[in-house]
Parts: sequence; structure tokens; C-alpha cells
Amino acid sequence: MSTSNPAPPPDVLPPHLFRQAVEQAALAISITDARANILYANAAFSRTTGYRQEEIVGHNESILSYRVTPKLVYETLWAQIQRQRPWNGLLVNKRKDGSRYLADVTITPVVSEQGATTHYLGMQRDVTEVHRLERQVQNQKALIESVVDAAQVAIVLLDENEHVLLDNQEYKKLIGDLGKEPAIALLAAMREQLGEGFEQSRKQHRNVAAREILIERPQRPSRWFSCSISWFEEHDSGADAFYEPLRRHYLLLTIQDISELKRQQEALRINGLQALLAEQERIQGLRETLTGAIFQLEGPLNMLSAAAHMLERRLSSQTIAADNIPASALGEAIQKSREALETLRACIPDAGAEIQQQININEVLADVLKLATASLLSAGIVVEWQPSAQPVLVSGNLAQLSNLFKQLVSNAIEAVNERRGGRRELHIVCSSHPDHIEVFVEDSGRGIPEELRYKVFQPFFTTKGAAKQHLGLGLAMAQEIVTRHRGVIDIDPEFHSGCRVRVQLPHAGGNHV
Ligand code: FAD
Repeated sequence: MSTSNPAPPPDVLPPHLFRQAVEQAALAISITDARANILYANAAFSRTTGYRQEEIVGHNESILSYRVTPKLVYETLWAQIQRQRPWNGLLVNKRKDGSRYLADVTITPVVSEQGATTHYLGMQRDVTEVHRLERQVQNQKALIESVVDAAQVAIVLLDENEHVLLDNQEYKKLIGDLGKEPAIALLAAMREQLGEGFEQSRKQHRNVAAREILIERPQRPSRWFSCSISWFEEHDSGADAFYEPLRRHYLLLTIQDISELKRQQEALRINGLQALLAEQERIQGLRETLTGAIFQLEGPLNMLSAAAHMLERRLSSQTIAADNIPASALGEAIQKSREALETLRACIPDAGAEIQQQININEVLADVLKLATASLLSAGIVVEWQPSAQPVLVSGNLAQLSNLFKQLVSNAIEAVNERRGGRRELHIVCSSHPDHIEVFVEDSGRGIPEELRYKVFQPFFTTKGAAKQHLGLGLAMAQEIVTRHRGVIDIDPEFHSGCRVRVQLPHAGGNHV
């Protein structure tokens, strides 16, 4: 082998040292002539290719080609080295025994003092294993991505600064539905719901199990999501972190749309409430009928009693023998009638079991409005519903309170229907005050005259026509329920463009029923 490079100073590095160094190098090294015919190969080259040094010298490097490397790669290789520039790339090589390996090859032209390429220095490394591992990682990544993409739940990966790094198809659909970056909106809602707990679990990278989150959208149906947070830790793959591992944390948010499930639960709840109210209505009807019958019978019976007393007094003043007249028979008939009335009174069913619980008045009103939707729509009534922003919890009986507001809403609908022309509106406002909860049920109907403000709460008083079969027990029943809940019900005298009923109930934890 001839070399035109200046020899190193002999006292520093003797020339044979270069040969020994190349000979013993762990990297496979070969030196070729300008047409790639091998002139020299070191021991590592023999270990890599399986050819002994004496077998390989004199052959072209192409002996190693497995013939699957594209022609273009060789063309590029030659074009580069012919321009006297080093080339580096991957070639599929074949060993002496026919087995293949992936070679990371670097070819450096050796240029004479005259500027001509006289030789090439080839260095190669078997990188089959590295390639296998890289491919495996790529395959796994592709597999994970396709599994994540096929998942029926939305999945999104965020860094610690809540920047989205990765998402799946379901998440992309959410972007279409909810607008830009739903993850941020959902995390904000979770933060609001969990309060301090959210920041704590975030600082300690603690997972958060499924939380139900409501996203309200103007003019569009609200959506419910079940959201879970899992944290995972990544070791920094940068060179800096090789000896001193750096950890990064990522937040994996899984989002499941449970709006349909919530709607079904809601429908079930409303159906349950409807059944409860129907039962209450049946009992109430029975109570009204029996109370009405007793009331109707009591009048004539009282008159009969009075007449019997008068007769008794007159007869005693005329000293006529009592057994000669039918006075005792009359007294007996009155007595029997009273007993019959008592039997009737005993038949009046109870208003219902007093099951006490904490009741959210906002929810009761919303449910009552939902139940009245069909009547409100058919009557063409515009509803303005203003729930309280503060908690409005009352300790009481759900069926009774639902019945109370159902009665007030029914009254309002009837009042609006009875009025010809004009506005057709129902306003319901719920608000929380330091010592009570207040509900206004306001309609644009005919209103209640000032002088009847108190009378309308009396049993059997009705302003509605007899044809409508009203006994006038609705507001009396409403008052009874409010009183049982230690509240107050009245009609606002200041309101003149319809009727405004005001109900005040004590907060739960205060006065209990
Ligand atoms: P070839 O007919 O040899 O060449 C294919 C294409 O390469 C030709 O169309 C042409 O464009 C170009 N080409 C080939 N020889 C020349 C030349 N003398 N001058 C200009 N262009 C030319 N190949 C491997 O497969 N594995 C190796 O490990 C490997 N190591 C090499 C190490 C060195 C130092 C050098 C210089 C080359 C090395 N080669 C290696 C390339 C090898 O010489 C062949 O070019 C390659 O194997 C393709 O061989 P082939 O018989 O398929 O086609």
C-alpha cells in the first residue's frame, strides 16, 4: 500500500503504529484501489463479513452486496466519492455464509499530493440490531397510535403546560363539535369542580378517576363527558440527560361522551317524578272529592241540627211529652248523619309519607317545567326560567314540593289561556337570600283582584268557572305544603300585569319541616 501523506515525526509516532492501530481497531476497515478492489482488510472486517483477510483481498467490495440496495444508492455513493467527498450510508450486505446484515458504511477518498484519488478507505459497522430495535420502536409506536386512534373514547396527551402533543380521531371529532381545544375547556371545568384537589393531584401527579363534566353551549344542547386524568413520566432522551436522568411529566386525558347516558338517566328520573306526581294527584283528587262532599253535607246537617234544637226548646216550653213527638227520631237521624260524616272523614287519604331529604329547588323547578313542556308549547307560552346561581337546598318532601310548583305552573298556564290576546308569558325566578330561598312564579294572565289576594288560599274558593270542575283546593293545597315546609306563600299586590305568586322557603340546615 502506498501513501502520499506526510509521515508523522518518527520520534512521536513510528509508522508501524498506524498499521497496528488499523489492524487492531474494533471497526471493520478496508482499503481499496480507485475501482473498489480490496487491497487491505483488518481483523474486525473479517469478523464482520466472515471472509478471512487472504480470501477477500483482490475482490471488489461489491462481493459484499446483497443486491437489494437500490442502484441509486450506489450511484450516489460513487458520485460523492468521485468528487473526493466522504460518503456515509446504509447498505444491505451479505456475509461469506450468505447471512445478511445492515452495514453503516463510511467511504473516504484518499487523495494524492497531485490531487488524484488513488485509494478509498472504507469503514463499516454492523447496525442490524440497532435497526431492528429502531424498527421495533417504530412498529410499536404505529401500533399504539392505531390502537389509540381506533379507541371509542377521545384521548389527548398534554405536556405540563397543557399544550396538546398528541390526540386521536375521537378527540378530533370533539374539536369539530366543541370548537378549538376541548381538552383545555374540560380541564378548566375539572379544575372548577375539584377546586384545591385538582391542583394537589396535579402537583403530585396523582391520577384522577372518571369525573362527570357538563359543558354548556349557547343555543345548542349541553354535553356531558366522563373525564379521567393519568400522569406518566418520561426520561429525557437527550445526550445531556444520559448520566443525569431528567424526568418529564405528561398528562393523558381520556374523555368519554356520556351525554346520551345522561339523557336516558334524566328521562328515567323525569318519568319517576311524573309517576310520583300522578300518584299525588290521585290522592289529592280523592282528598278534594271527600273534603268537598263533607263540606257540602255539613251545611244542611248543621241547619238540621239547629232546627232540631229549636224544636226541642219549643216542645219543652209547651211541656209536651217527648215520646209523643218525632223529636228523638230526628235527633237520632242527625246523630247517624254525623257518624256517617266522620266515617267519610276517616276515608280521606293521608297527603303522603313525610320522607325528608335535601332538595335542590332549582332542580325541582327545572323538572316541573320539563313536565309542563307539552302544555306550555301547545298554549304558545314563552317561558323565562332563571335558576339561582347560589345553592338553593331545602329540607323537605320531594313529591310535595314538586306538586306545589306543578300546581303554581298549571294555574299560570290556565290563567294565560283564559286571557284572550296579549302577552303569553311565564317567568320563573329562583333566588337565594341569607335567611330564605325565594321563588317567583309570574304569568301574564288575567291576575287576581286585590280583594281576593287572601281568599284564593281558602279551600273551595275558586275564581274559575264551574264548568271547569274546579273545587278551588289547588292554592289551599299549595299553602298547606308551604306551611308544612315552614315557608310563606302569597300573591304580590304590586304586580298588575298578571299574577305573581311568591314562595319563600327556609334553607336546609335552618328550620326543618
Ligand atoms: P457495480 O457495477 O459495481 O456498480 C453499480 C453502480 O455503481 C454503477 O452503475 C455505477 O454508477 C457505480 N460504480 C460502480 N463502480 C464504479 C466505479 N469504479 N466508478 C464509478 N462508478 C462506479 N458495496 C456494497 O454493496 N457493500 C459494501 O460494503 C461496499 N463497500 C465499499 C467500500 C469502498 C471503499 C468502496 C469504494 C465501495 C464499496 N461498495 C460497497 C460499492 C461497490 O464497489 C459496488 O459499487 C456496489 O457493491 C455495487 O456493485 P454492483 O456489482 O451491484 O454494481
